[in-house]
Amino acid sequence: MSFVDQFNKLNWDDISMSIYSKTASDVERALNKPKRDLEDFKALISPAAEPYLEQMAQLSYSLTRKRFGNTMSLYIPLYLSNLCANACTYCGFSMENRIKRKTLDRDEVSAEIDAIKAMKFDSVLLVTGEHETKVGMKYFRAMVPMIKEQFNYLAMEVQPLDQEQYAELKTLGLDAVMVYQETYHPSTYGEHHLRGNKTDFEYRLDTPDRLAKAGIDKIGIGALIGLEEWRTDCFYVAAHLDYLERTYWQTRYSISFPRLRPCEGALQPKSVMTDKQLVQLICAYRLLNPEVELSLSTRESPSFRDNVLPLGITSMSAASKTQPGGYAMDDVELEQFEISDERSAASVEDMIRAKGFDPVWRDWHSAYSG
Ligand code: SF4
Repeated sequence: MSFVDQFNKLNWDDISMSIYSKTASDVERALNKPKRDLEDFKALISPAAEPYLEQMAQLSYSLTRKRFGNTMSLYIPLYLSNLCANACTYCGFSMENRIKRKTLDRDEVSAEIDAIKAMKFDSVLLVTGEHETKVGMKYFRAMVPMIKEQFNYLAMEVQPLDQEQYAELKTLGLDAVMVYQETYHPSTYGEHHLRGNKTDFEYRLDTPDRLAKAGIDKIGIGALIGLEEWRTDCFYVAAHLDYLERTYWQTRYSISFPRLRPCEGALQPKSVMTDKQLVQLICAYRLLNPEVELSLSTRESPSFRDNVLPLGITSMSAASKTQPGGYAMDDVELEQFEISDERSAASVEDMIRAKGFDPVWRDWHSAYSG
């Protein structure tokens, strides 16, 4: 059994219609419940909830503080390679883009580690394009133990792998894997994933199940907001989370909500999400699930990140470079997408403290469980 079975019972148009038909009384009912379900989530992300944003924000704030205290985990992405055998319409690394390609060797990774450690980070997210043959298990076997030696918490955002491969990487030090479905609308997915293994919608959808079965500590899911109608896509993320938590209760989960950003061969979003709507979504996820970690990247602007920080977010990236070798070499020609918050790690740390929060340089959970 996997989420694919559950997914096949859901109907995109019915869900969409159900979200858009929610009323103010559905929203009020959801706000007043001590424990909320997926129907309540639909109400909270619906247009009917927009006038209730202040109340949602207050509830989200207090639920988050109750579970996570006044802490903010900080992590940094470490791009190992921009080689990719897929063609995704929204990404600078797409195989069809004529850009300089680079995969870091051991010395180059070591230079990146030094630069990252100098900024105080103890939690890294390894990122690659998806190139099974050149940046596959052989490469990961060589790099993961070497990087893990230097950091407390190691997450990965690479091509989906098999269960046995995840189990092996766990023995080498892998703690968490982020695997975003991009969109849960199969035909729209097909329009944006034109070549390569990523065209296999179901294999990707099945990945969090394989990760949980392999015993990976934390799994990150999400949709790329803008590819499809955002409310319905984000409902699918919530349904996916609900299924995973019920099926694999021992695993931790995090959600990200990247919005489409300009990149080489830029794609215009089909569904535009405003800043206010992103706040609404963050609060709705928190109201649905007080335990889930909510992560915000440097794709968002400094002012947005500063303002939204207390409302439900539990971890943030900082000082990110989205190209391999970005911390030690800084060759912008290689980057995946432009980041919006370009502040240094130290100034993001200062901002977090100024807001009355404690920056935590490790994964939130590992920092408090020893
Ligand atoms: S989104 Fe991922 S798989 Fe698609 S082109 Fe970019 S790096 Fe490759």
